[in-house]
Amino acid sequence: MTAFPQGTILGYPRIGRRRELKKAVEAFWAGRIDEGELEAGAAALRADVRERLAGLGLGRADSAIPESFSFYDQVLDAAVTVGAIPTRFEGLRDADGGIGLPAYFTIARGEGDRAPLEMTKWFDSNYHYLVPEIGPDTVFSLSSDRIVRQVEEAVAAGYVTRPVVVGPVTLLALSKAADEAPEGFDPLSRLDDLLPVYVELLSRLAAAGAEWVQLDEPALVSESLPASTAELGAAAARAYAVLGGATPRPSIFVAAPYAALGANLEVLAAAPIEAIGIDLVRGTVPDAVAGLADKTIVGGVVDGHNIWRGDLSGAFDALQSLREVGAGGVAASTSTSLLHVPHDVDDESKLDARLVSWLAFADQKTAQVVTLAKGLAEGRDAIEDALDAASAALADRVDAPGVRDGAVRARTAALQEADYTREDYSLRVAAQDEALALPALPLTTIGSFPQTGDIRRARARFTRGEITSDEYEGFLREEISRVVALQEQLGLDVLVHGEPERNDMVQYFAENLDGFEVTENGWVQSYGSRATRPSILWGDVSRPAPITVAWSSFAQSLTSKPVKGMLTGPVTILAWSFVRDDQPLGETADQVALALRDEIADLEAAGIGVIQVDEPALRELLPLKKADQPAYLQWSVDSFRLATAAAETATQIHTHLCYSEFGVVIDAIRALDADVTSIEAARSRMEVVTDVAASGFDHGIGPGVYDIHSPRVPSAAEVESLLRRAVEEIPLRQLWVNPDCGLKTRGYEETNASLANIVEAARTVRDEV
Ligand code: GLN
Ligand code: ZN
Repeated sequence: MTAFPQGTILGYPRIGRRRELKKAVEAFWAGRIDEGELEAGAAALRADVRERLAGLGLGRADSAIPESFSFYDQVLDAAVTVGAIPTRFEGLRDADGGIGLPAYFTIARGEGDRAPLEMTKWFDSNYHYLVPEIGPDTVFSLSSDRIVRQVEEAVAAGYVTRPVVVGPVTLLALSKAADEAPEGFDPLSRLDDLLPVYVELLSRLAAAGAEWVQLDEPALVSESLPASTAELGAAAARAYAVLGGATPRPSIFVAAPYAALGANLEVLAAAPIEAIGIDLVRGTVPDAVAGLADKTIVGGVVDGHNIWRGDLSGAFDALQSLREVGAGGVAASTSTSLLHVPHDVDDESKLDARLVSWLAFADQKTAQVVTLAKGLAEGRDAIEDALDAASAALADRVDAPGVRDGAVRARTAALQEADYTREDYSLRVAAQDEALALPALPLTTIGSFPQTGDIRRARARFTRGEITSDEYEGFLREEISRVVALQEQLGLDVLVHGEPERNDMVQYFAENLDGFEVTENGWVQSYGSRATRPSILWGDVSRPAPITVAWSSFAQSLTSKPVKGMLTGPVTILAWSFVRDDQPLGETADQVALALRDEIADLEAAGIGVIQVDEPALRELLPLKKADQPAYLQWSVDSFRLATAAAETATQIHTHLCYSEFGVVIDAIRALDADVTSIEAARSRMEVVTDVAASGFDHGIGPGVYDIHSPRVPSAAEVESLLRRAVEEIPLRQLWVNPDCGLKTRGYEETNASLANIVEAARTVRDEV
């Protein structure tokens, strides 16, 4: 057996430094390149990555370089590898039963009436994976040898890399029951049937030249999955007894990122595997564990969750103390795959040099691991300079201008309990009813209207300096006028300005607040070919000037109907940015909240009487560990309340949440104390209203009646039936009528038709009640 490399990373960004993969994949989808060209482009990208990682100091031939490429998603890769695809896609297999690239993309994206796999958040990251569907009759068989061929490709280029595959327990734990499965079916019950395919895969990988394989098992750390950690541990014990006993096979490295492994570390320690990866950024160095003597423990000490250079010296100390848990060897690693961070800080020419010195993107984090590995091998002295340099950068952050702003600090320090609480809801309802005089079942939208090619082009021309800001603003005013006129003509009750000025609901605010910086090339994969460029929240947050007031008040000047001001909430701004790691998130959230509180006051002063504060990320930031959830819910809810609590009694505060898992966070939603909450409901055919009714939620609620994720136009009759269901279960005075989410990804044709049908349906139901 070859030893585990002294330093490694759990995975590397796949999209390419200039989003080459996105461009190639989308060109293939559009028919501009063929499959051969796409494969060649992807192979070139993989070759570049290996070369770069070797250049950064990972060994070429010691399995330190992960083979972590994916055309779309690593969970889909694993599902396709073992043939776990829904029956509706079975017809897409090749004659020999294999699943080729076109079929793979069809499973990811759907086609005609074959719905794609559902997508959901990967642990507590902003990455979305595809949810496999598994039933009692799913036949597992090796259906793609893509990962084997990548190992061969690397060997041919002179490398011995380490293939990375989602492990069997995580694959099943993240799957949902197939449509045809009986009520209560648990995909994890198929573990024993799945394992032989992994055994076969291991033998193929060994034959291809892999000396180590990395099986990712983050499910083992989560307390937010249907299966309990104990059940997951039991499954892991069974799975790794089988895989460990298989021959031939590469040495097995099981990685358990995203949180502390807890009791499941003992399970893996007892299994016949050769290395275990633990997240020491989210978890701490465990006590000594039996069974580790013949294993390497891989300490995830370099933070893969964020972009800070961090405390390298502390990381080295953690690795040193890891020697005490009783493992045969200790290696250095990132805490998670580097998929969550951009490629390279050196690609940012516009960032302030001082800020740059505090940052580490994927390439810099790789170099950090290499440094730590050298320290493990040669002793602390050998890396003293690098550790000192990182410590100096960390110290430099402490009192650099902007990191701590006296005025901001004084304001948060002076906050009182009363700053978080509005007047009693019943008084607010009365004042708002009088001020707004809305009909029953008031009609509104969630904020954005279609972001047309014209809007995107105008913004791009403005960014490139091809049009002046007067010209750009004139264009936006025309757009807003059009959207307001359209809503009046359709007969909506509470109008919006349509958000044409926003590229993104978080980045727009980041660009207009102090304490944030935006990147040029800091792309991070969100899902499939989609990437986002999260802003960097590095300092104390304040609002140099009003942000949205001019747009909202312009829209209000065009109509006698109320226009809803539109803000992004503190939790969502944090969730979709890279956030400073030098203070608790709750403190940062309060700073953002105070900036929004000022914005709300300015909106009110400009005559805006309805203001929505979007918090679609409230649910997704929920910690994986139950013990951490109450504290999170406390600060997240508090920050929303702090943002909104100074609003006048007659000002109607709305919030919007992008999902229908109402039950999980119902207490939090109630505690937000928004006057009106809109949620997704159309996709689940209004099932959520039952939860809402059962919970006794008594504020305004707008369960979505139009699934904006699909180009489909719902008929008036369909919307009517959804509304009737809502009216049956929820008191009329609480109900609002709105789509599931914003309309920015839709075209005007379907938007106009859908909204017209919604208005017609609401009028019909209004007449009946
Ligand atoms: N107001 C935003 C919009 O309509 C909300 C988007 C979201 O919830 N993701 O686009
Ligand atoms: Zn939404």
